[in-house]
Amino acid sequence: MTTAQTTVTDRARRILEAVGTTLPDADPSAEAVIARSPITGETIARVPATTDVDAVIARAQQAFTTWRSVPAPVRGAVVRELGELLREHKADLGELVSIEAGKIRSEGLGEVQEMIDICDFGVGLSRQLYGLTIATERPGHRMMEQWHPLGPIAVITAFNFPVAVWSWNTVLALVSGDTVVWKPSEKTPLTGLAVQAIMEEAARRAGADPAIAQLVIGDRAVGEALVDDTRIALVSATGSTRMGAQVAPRVAARFGRVLLELGGNNAAIVAPSADIDLTVRGLVFSAAGTAGQRCTSLRRVIAHESIADELVERLAKAYASLPIGSPLEADTLVGPLIDQQAYNGFTAALSAAAEQGGSIVAGGDRVAVGGDSGDDAYYVHPTIVRMPEQSAVVRSETFAPILYVLTYSDFDEAIALNNDVPQGLSSSVFTTDLREAERFLSASGSDCGIANVNIGPSGAEIGGAFGGEKETGGGRESGSDAWRGYMRRTTNTVNYSSELPLAQGVQFG
Ligand code: NAD
Repeated sequence: MTTAQTTVTDRARRILEAVGTTLPDADPSAEAVIARSPITGETIARVPATTDVDAVIARAQQAFTTWRSVPAPVRGAVVRELGELLREHKADLGELVSIEAGKIRSEGLGEVQEMIDICDFGVGLSRQLYGLTIATERPGHRMMEQWHPLGPIAVITAFNFPVAVWSWNTVLALVSGDTVVWKPSEKTPLTGLAVQAIMEEAARRAGADPAIAQLVIGDRAVGEALVDDTRIALVSATGSTRMGAQVAPRVAARFGRVLLELGGNNAAIVAPSADIDLTVRGLVFSAAGTAGQRCTSLRRVIAHESIADELVERLAKAYASLPIGSPLEADTLVGPLIDQQAYNGFTAALSAAAEQGGSIVAGGDRVAVGGDSGDDAYYVHPTIVRMPEQSAVVRSETFAPILYVLTYSDFDEAIALNNDVPQGLSSSVFTTDLREAERFLSASGSDCGIANVNIGPSGAEIGGAFGGEKETGGGRESGSDAWRGYMRRTTNTVNYSSELPLAQGVQFG
C-alpha cells in the first residue's frame, strides 16, 4: 500500500470510527463488496456481503407489527434524533461521501445537509399526517379516509446520491409507520455502513427497535431478493432505467408497489431574451457539477439560433477555467468519474456523437490530475458537443459530463426538442419573456416532473416532490405529499343512525 493509498483509507477508517462503527475487513474467502475511492482508484476495504436477506426481512416484518401502532408524533422522535446526529456528524459523513462517490467537499456536505433538511421536514410531518372527511349521501353516516402504515419497505439506491436518497425514503417511511431495509449501491458500501451506525444510534436514543431501519450489503442479487419478497410492501428503487425495467415487472407480478426514480436526460432551453451571465452560471453548474453524475445533470442545451454561437463561446470559456482534481482539495469544482465503466461510457458516447455529426467544442479527453490519483482513477474534462440535430446519442443518458448543444428557431420547436427523449425527469428554460416561461410550465410545455425557470435542472430542495415521468419511472419522493406513497388509504363509512339506507337508493328486502 502506498502513502497515497493510506491517506484516503485512513480518512475513511477514522470517519467510520467517529460515527460508531469500524472499517470492515472481510475474510478473503467470504462474499464481499469492494469499497474503493474514485479519487485515487484505490481499494479501501472488503465489506462483507449480506448472506441471509431472508432473516433481515423477517426482522423488518416483526418490527413493523409494533412500529405501526406507535403514534406518529412518537415515531417522529426517532427522526428528530437522526437529524441531531447528522448535524453532529455532518463534516465526517460529507467527507466520506467525497471519498466514496467523488463529490467535491461542498457537495458532499450539501448531501448531508439534504438529509438534515428532510429530517426537519419529517419531524413536522409526523404531526401532520391527515385524511379527509367526505360528505355522504346517507343520513346519519360519516365517511372518512385514514392513512395507515404499509409494511416493510425496500430502499435500493444508486451510487451518485449515496446517502440523501436513503434519507428521503427512510424518513418518510419511518414517520409513516413502515420499517426499512436499505440496499445501497455496491459502489458505495461505506457510506451505507456509516449512515446505518448513525441510524441505529438515533433509534437507541429514542428508545425504538433498531430493526425499524436495517441495511443489507451486496450487488444486484441482494436487490433481487428484496424485489421478489412478498413481505416487502413497497420497493423504492433509484438507479438506471435498465434497473427499473428489471425491477418493475417483478414487483408487479407479485402485486407489490414500486416507487421508481430512474435516469434523466435533462435540457435547458435558452431563449434570446435570457440573462446571459446568469444563464452561463446556471448551465455550467448543472452540466459540469458533480462531474455530470446527477440524475438531474444538464445534458442538453436547446439554444435559440440567434444566441447559440455566443452562448457556446461563453460556456467553452467557463469550462476552460474549471479546476479539475481531487474533490478533497478546497478549490476543486470537478471531481472524478465513479469508475472505469463510467469512463468507457464517456468515450463511447463521444465516438457515437462524432458519428452522428457532432463536433467537440470543449473537453473530450481524460485528465491526469497527478497528486494521489492512480491509473484506476478517471478524471475527464467536462465536454461540450455541438450537434446538427436530434440524434440517438442525444436521446440517451450518458452518466458523465457531456453537454450537447442543439439550436431552435421557434419556441414550439424548442419545447418539442425538450420533450423528444424517453426520459422525463428535469428541465428548465432561461428567458425573461413571461409568455415563454409560462408556456414552458403549462400543460403543453415541458413533460418532465421538474420544470424550472431561470435556474438549471439540477439542485432540487427537499420541500417539493421529486421525480419524473416516462422512463424516469413516475415516482415521487421527498416533500409535498410524497408521504402518501409510503402509506395505504382506507375509506371508512360509519353509520351512527338506527336506519340502514343503501347507497344509490338501492332497496333490498
Ligand atoms: P444502477 O441502476 O446501476 O444501480 C442502482 C441500484 O440498483 C444499485 O443498488 C444496484 O445494485 C441495484 N440494482 C441493479 N439492478 C438490479 C435489479 N435487477 N434488481 C434489484 N436491484 C438492482 O445505477 P447507478 O449506476 O448506481 O446510478 C446511476 C443511475 O441512477 C443513473 O441512470 C441516474 O440517472 C439514476 N439516478 C436517478 C435518480 C432519480 O432520483 N431519478 C437519482 C440518482 C440516480
